Amino acid sequence: MYKQKYDRVYNFSAGPSVLPLEVLEKVQADLLNYEGSGQSVMEMSHRSKEFKKIAEDAEANLRELMEIPDNYKVLFVQGGGHVQFAMVPLNLMVNSKKADYIITGTWAKKAWKEAQKFGDAKAIASSEEDKFTWVPKVKKEDFREDADYAYICLNNTIYGTRFNYIPDTGDVPLVADWSSGWMSEKIDVSKFGILWGGAQKNVAPAGMAIVVIREDLLGKCAPEVPTYLDYKIHADNDSMYNTPPCWTIYVAGEVFKYLKSIGGIGVMEEMNKKKAKKLYDYIDSSELFKAPVAVEDRSLMNVVFVTGDPDLDKKFVAEAREEGLINLAGHRSIGGMRASIYNAMPEEGIDCLIEFMKKFEAENK
Ligand SMILES: *Cc1c(COP(=O)(O)O)cnc(C)c1O
Repeated sequence: MYKQKYDRVYNFSAGPSVLPLEVLEKVQADLLNYEGSGQSVMEMSHRSKEFKKIAEDAEANLRELMEIPDNYKVLFVQGGGHVQFAMVPLNLMVNSKKADYIITGTWAKKAWKEAQKFGDAKAIASSEEDKFTWVPKVKKEDFREDADYAYICLNNTIYGTRFNYIPDTGDVPLVADWSSGWMSEKIDVSKFGILWGGAQKNVAPAGMAIVVIREDLLGKCAPEVPTYLDYKIHADNDSMYNTPPCWTIYVAGEVFKYLKSIGGIGVMEEMNKKKAKKLYDYIDSSELFKAPVAVEDRSLMNVVFVTGDPDLDKKFVAEAREEGLINLAGHRSIGGMRASIYNAMPEEGIDCLIEFMKKFEAENK
């Protein structure tokens, strides 16, 4: 059985998912008495000077790591991904009430459906007919010039694809869900109107989305929009309009410090590419396992694979679990297998998985 320090298994969960061991150890050490404050972060007033510093440092380190330009606000908003599906149209679908969506999987589709409640949300491209195994290549002319925004999901957690390019939308602000890719590789923030991500995939425990928004997109909500769902209220109050998700912000802050300590996102990106390549290379060489996704669109974070036989897939997932390789089942909507290999998955986890896959292949030829 594969085991790590503290008898920890290798956890390939798509979310909530692994956090760096160094961060968990720091959180554990801080738990009863955070840096001499005499309190746990869980018990702290969000208006205290200690917590204010935690939140400010988290934002500053995030800005530094992602090289976020000064004309962007960083917001920590409760509610995760689905709240963003609604907040985006509520805040941006305000002029022509048109928005163009590229449908690359479950999450993009859900966001699109949500936006239809508020205006003319149009699917301008989709790979659904091929079970989302690739990502459409769109051009500027494919977007409606008068759309209030265009929307994409950069990394498709369930189907294991990613945009390997950032669409040119001209003057139409581009909104992107980067939940499952957050800080896994370098990205040019200035290409986006909004870049948001749920915390629980690559950053922190569940309960929060990080929203990076260009300032000129703030303050456009209709008056009847609930106060909490207006990005401007969060921007004007440094994400402390109400009690923020303190614990999640704190852990995210520790993850950002950890990323800085290893050399930043560029270093993380190299490690992620190496990990993903190892796993895909093995799958491509295997006679039993296949990756159904178009090679150029393969995700670095969520590696989807199948044997072609659903019963054998189930057997694989069950036996892997016995060996300490857990959460390898594909999303309940598509079956097969999925190894989510986020930032915090060590390379040894990939090595163990490949070793186990080879053994399974030999036994099940
Ligand atoms: C998980 C996920 C979501 C949904 O997030 P919730 O916090 O569960 O609402 C949305 N988009 C992507 C890309 C995801 O991976």
